[in-house]
Amino acid sequence: MRKKIVAGNWKMNLLPEEGKKLTSEIVNMAGDEVPNDVTLVICPPYTHLESVQKLTGDQEKVFLGAQNCHTEESGAYTGEISVPMLKAIGTSYVIIGHSERREYFSETDEFLAKKTDKLLSAGLTPIFCCGESLEQREGGKYVSFVTNQISNSLFHLSEDEIKKVVIAYEPIWAIGTGLTASPEQAQEMHEAIRKHLAEKYNADVANSISILYGGSCKPGNAKELFACEDVDGGLIGGASLKSRDFVDIAKSY
Ligand code: 13P
Repeated sequence: MRKKIVAGNWKMNLLPEEGKKLTSEIVNMAGDEVPNDVTLVICPPYTHLESVQKLTGDQEKVFLGAQNCHTEESGAYTGEISVPMLKAIGTSYVIIGHSERREYFSETDEFLAKKTDKLLSAGLTPIFCCGESLEQREGGKYVSFVTNQISNSLFHLSEDEIKKVVIAYEPIWAIGTGLTASPEQAQEMHEAIRKHLAEKYNADVANSISILYGGSCKPGNAKELFACEDVDGGLIGGASLKSRDFVDIAKSY
């Protein structure tokens, strides 16, 4: 049985008091409304991590995630945050390889492979993002582009290691644009990713890895996306900034 996960990526939004209010609302609503087999993850900016941890730390439904990490444990990397730092304040999940980081901060597949190793060796769960641009989709090579991103950053892992990774498919053309992948488009890619995992590892491994969909996922379209066989939840941007919308998405299961 694959884990169902709905993760909120706040990106660079909200001041601390706004973050606390949003987190409290989510925790309160989730307790009664979200099915017990759905895990919620909140990934706020670094400045909110401790306050979100205080509000989520003593319950089992909403977990703390970060939006990035560095590959080194410590040292002269001004502006960066290490995996031990994230772990020390109770972070469970870390998003890596978001298309915004690949694009604006030139993150490469190789760098993401190192981040994956660092997170796994510390016992944290990477949420590894992949996804194609509109140009790549229109060029018809979108499946091989995405499966290559996965091979390049994850296929050095052992079976036991890759089973601990969560994959998030986020087509770049659907992020923040209001254009969502149709359930057919999402299912096609998720199925292709699972097949790619099965070919490299085996069916058991492929069937144990949660693959989330991200890109303009909202309460109005979550149900049909989550109904797809190979979609195991969502990575939510804009709609995760509103407690009602985020919880409604999670309830769509
Ligand atoms: P939106 O839900 O705002 O399209 O963002 C998706 C995303 O990038 C989540 O990581």
